[in-house]
Amino acid sequence: MSGQILVQRMLIVGVGLIGGSFARALKQAGVVGTIVGADRNRDNLQQALELGIIDEIADQRSGGAEGADLVFISVPVCSIPAVVASLAPHLPQGCVVTDGGSVKGTVVEECEAVMPEGCCFVGGHPIAGTECSGAAASFATLYNGKRCILTPNSDTDENALELVSQLWQAAGATICIMDATRHDRIFAEISHLPHMVAYSLVHAVGTADVEGENVLSYTAGGFRDFTRIASSDPVMWRDIALMNKAAVLRSIDGFSASLADLRRKIDSDDGDGMAQFFTIAKQFRDQIG
Ligand code: NAP
Repeated sequence: MSGQILVQRMLIVGVGLIGGSFARALKQAGVVGTIVGADRNRDNLQQALELGIIDEIADQRSGGAEGADLVFISVPVCSIPAVVASLAPHLPQGCVVTDGGSVKGTVVEECEAVMPEGCCFVGGHPIAGTECSGAAASFATLYNGKRCILTPNSDTDENALELVSQLWQAAGATICIMDATRHDRIFAEISHLPHMVAYSLVHAVGTADVEGENVLSYTAGGFRDFTRIASSDPVMWRDIALMNKAAVLRSIDGFSASLADLRRKIDSDDGDGMAQFFTIAKQFRDQIG
């Protein structure tokens, strides 16, 4: 498949880590003709052009949609439906619109509602990333060997789904098809909850005061490993919590119950209970390697 042009003209809205890495990977695979970039951050967009990630900066009037066969939206999730709505009047017939947002249920529903006749939206979420943002942080191998989840429904055009699948495969990813609601529940547990915990842990420790001293200066490897993801973009994570509210709250409740259970064991000097609790957790952790 690599080397054969799949898309002549592609628009990427939000040329940051995810959009920039997709552009780089597709260019390297030789499957895309011209890549047009749009971004509200002009400095980032200019840098994307200078780095050769995009070939052109989008025309302001059409947002870059004119003549595009495929549009990829990679802005924070709360903004995705509004971006799609603003592009909708300019989308050519047959254009496929897809996204890389970390939440799928509401995003797909709201985007499908504004798609013009003859165009199709395909929800997507690459399971790859780092805590860094912007075009300069993007790299061509980000998706190599990673999964990309696509969340089609009964309204999704098969050819559009096939095109989006082929593009992600050309970028190095393996496709996983999943229902959007199931996606949001699974990623609330394995991705959104860890970010909420990391942010709140650093928040608590950063504001802890031991005899007038800020304890953060004593942190070492373990704290850094555990909290790396708390350096991620706050706006991106605010949007994920807003858009996946119900599932995130459910996962926080499950975690709170687990923490309360551990607290009870510590409070009652239940050494055996604690050892068992830690052993079970260690077994789960060792399973994932
Ligand atoms: P990023 O590096 O911050 O890039 C996003 C770019 O979009 C920024 O330049 C931003 O400008 C711009 N932008 C924001 N709102 C916009 C709007 N309404 N119109 C046009 N441009 C806009 O973010 P990212 O990490 O690539 O994340 C993009 C998407 O991918 C998000 O939906 C996220 O949930 C998803 N995702 C991220 C990861 C990850 O690990 N980072 C992994 C999988 C999926 P400003 O600088 O002005 O904000």
